[in-house]
Amino acid sequence: MSSYSWKLTYFGPYEITSQVFYSTLHSYCLVNIKPLLPGHVLVVSNRIVPRFTDLNANEVTDLYMTVQKVQRMLAKVYFKDPESEKGGFGGKLEDGAFNVAMQDGVSAGQTVPHVHVHIIPRPKDSPQNDQIYDRMESEEGNVGGALWDRSRPVNQGKFAKPEESERKNRTEEEMVKEANFFREQMELVD
Ligand code: AMP
Repeated sequence: MSSYSWKLTYFGPYEITSQVFYSTLHSYCLVNIKPLLPGHVLVVSNRIVPRFTDLNANEVTDLYMTVQKVQRMLAKVYFKDPESEKGGFGGKLEDGAFNVAMQDGVSAGQTVPHVHVHIIPRPKDSPQNDQIYDRMESEEGNVGGALWDRSRPVNQGKFAKPEESERKNRTEEEMVKEANFFREQMELVD
């Protein structure tokens, strides 16, 4: 059972109450100030702890169950329903893909020391010529990441690389508008 309440909420040191669009017993979801692609949101643990291993079993379960629910919501919003005659949205999970990622610690690129999972919807027609993991900071210097890269599927497993100049902090107004919309959409998914 989950519910949304307007309680004062922090993402690491940042007060982000108005950007929260869903909350559960142990987690909450917020819209991103600098999305790499449309729909790039974060699922965050309620407890402000930096490392994934700081979470207990209930918190881990809650965090990733919430990730799944947010994926179902994002699919409806960003993926096209192939059966829609007008080419409309309202798609299902299988009508697209996602990047689901966590940077667990500073040398893995984590910039906000508060456990969070990135979710980025990838519609089927989204461009494949991207390097989103490269942009998730410091991966070139990360031996583990570099090793993992050797076996990573080439074309479809990477985060997008928008030009840095296109990546501006969004205004509070934009973020609140998106959070309000996602909050309504979350009511419509199981
Ligand atoms: P990471 O680099 O994995 O720690 O990810 C931090 C994420 O938080 C990035 O996607 C940032 O764009 C996002 N972010 C940082 N500060 C804020 C904020 N005040 N509100 C929303 N998102 C934020």
